[in-house]
Amino acid sequence: IGANLARMASTFGDRIALIDAVTQKEWTYREFREDVLALAAGFVRMGISPGDRVGLWSPNRAEWVLVQYATAEIGVILVNLNPAYRQEELEYALTQSGITAVISPESFKDSAYAAMLEKATPNCPDLRQYVLFDSPEWDAMTSPPSDSERHDVAGYSRSLSPGDAINIQYTSGTTGFPKGATLSHRNILNNGYMVGELLNYTEEDRICLPVPFYHCFGMVMGNLAATTHGAAIVIPAPTFDARATLAAVDAYNCSSLYGVPTMFIAELSELEKDSTRYDLSSLRTGIMAGSPCPEHVMRRVVDQMHMPEVSICYGMTETAPISTQTLVDDPFDLRVGTVGQVGPHLELKVADPTTGQTVERGANGELCVRGYSVMKGYWNDPEKTAQAVDAEGWMHTGDLAAMDDNGYVRITGRIKDMVIRGGENIYPREVEEFLFTHPDIVDVQVVGVPDAKYGEELVAWIRLRNGAPDVTADELRRFATGKIARHKIPRYVQVVDDFPMTVTGKVRKVELREAAIEFLN
Ligand code: ATP
Ligand code: MG
Repeated sequence: IGANLARMASTFGDRIALIDAVTQKEWTYREFREDVLALAAGFVRMGISPGDRVGLWSPNRAEWVLVQYATAEIGVILVNLNPAYRQEELEYALTQSGITAVISPESFKDSAYAAMLEKATPNCPDLRQYVLFDSPEWDAMTSPPSDSERHDVAGYSRSLSPGDAINIQYTSGTTGFPKGATLSHRNILNNGYMVGELLNYTEEDRICLPVPFYHCFGMVMGNLAATTHGAAIVIPAPTFDARATLAAVDAYNCSSLYGVPTMFIAELSELEKDSTRYDLSSLRTGIMAGSPCPEHVMRRVVDQMHMPEVSICYGMTETAPISTQTLVDDPFDLRVGTVGQVGPHLELKVADPTTGQTVERGANGELCVRGYSVMKGYWNDPEKTAQAVDAEGWMHTGDLAAMDDNGYVRITGRIKDMVIRGGENIYPREVEEFLFTHPDIVDVQVVGVPDAKYGEELVAWIRLRNGAPDVTADELRRFATGKIARHKIPRYVQVVDDFPMTVTGKVRKVELREAAIEFLN
């Protein structure tokens, strides 16, 4: 990663690498690399050396990106800590990965964050240092290095191998407790490059990133895809804000915009209120990923957000992250209705989850991925690693998918979310796609609940369009009858304002299932 940045800084030195819309600060590639090297020297001065784990606990900001590249430069293992972590998750990440230093914003001082960290410290024997952005210590760390310090940094850089661990990322925790995927330079640099290549990025592109950096979506598909192509990273706000995002696209003429589906849904609602407020004509492309991407949302993003080349990507933290991606020259229906085909230098198969045999084309099974992107393993957890990555190197994703004759993949759900009603397998995803066609429904989640007669029954959690009349189970049945199979029509309906979300902004189906069980009792 360091070598790649060095090359970019010499090729695109005067071009913009990074823009923070909050502080309105900008870095050229040359300035960015200088600051990265200074910070790397600062780490060395602090006594942090290759292989040490450093936790970064901060919302998005320019310094996040500097820390990402400075740690990679000298082989320090960056541990992404989510600002939404509660005590238990924080303590788990700190102790499980043996973090020696934590970096966070000055604003965390004297806050609930500091209190959490203080409470955790006695249980974290390795934790020695706590550094705050904007503090005098931070200024010292980022001051220009001496010649001998530069020499030390260069020595560390030269000693690195592509397969070295440089990042531990805890998974989103959608299906259970987060697991620490350990990723190498090879994993994430190549994957970031691949994503950017397939979006045809060049040094002309400016990529607006409202997605979190503590997740692969921001740090790999965003930051690394940008810097491996000489493009610019644009940070619209510390955490997701639909208006700030649209404003940053407008102000900085961004050509690309990323988001999980719920972010695009929020931006589309904003545009519905006032379609002329933001000039989005600079947009060309972008990525929707992270959870099922509803086809009608994709179509609206293409039409209403000036993103004719928007792509769907599929991946997971454990595969650094992307395995499949739709391409601009794919047939349009496949671009909005599938997650595309396997990326270069990767292999994909769909296997029967019980026998492990590859299923026929078009049939459902567990998606498995093999190649350069598969993680080194879960940090310090050989047992969980062996359950996820088999002896032949296949990562078992836990996602259900079907692949057509041309290799286009449809994600049909997670194995854990599949509902079996009266002996029939139901993929909630398919029911959700259908319910989206209801004019009053803006967002929907379908889960299964235990049922004495059928084993499981379907519950639809729905969010309604502003001012829409209530949608009852009867109304839903009327709407669906004759359009989808009878057993796929949800028996219960619950209208809500919001869904419970994971710390990375995904809907926590587990929680919806528990809540449904509760209200039915
Ligand atoms: P945990 O593993 O802790 O339960 P998680 O799987 O949500 O959490 P991530 O690694 O952030 O953690 O997310 C990867 C998952 O997101 C994939 O396994 C898949 O279920 C889902 N996903 C990602 N992209 C897409 C997509 N384009 N379409 C459908 N699902 C997607
Ligand atoms: Mg997962």
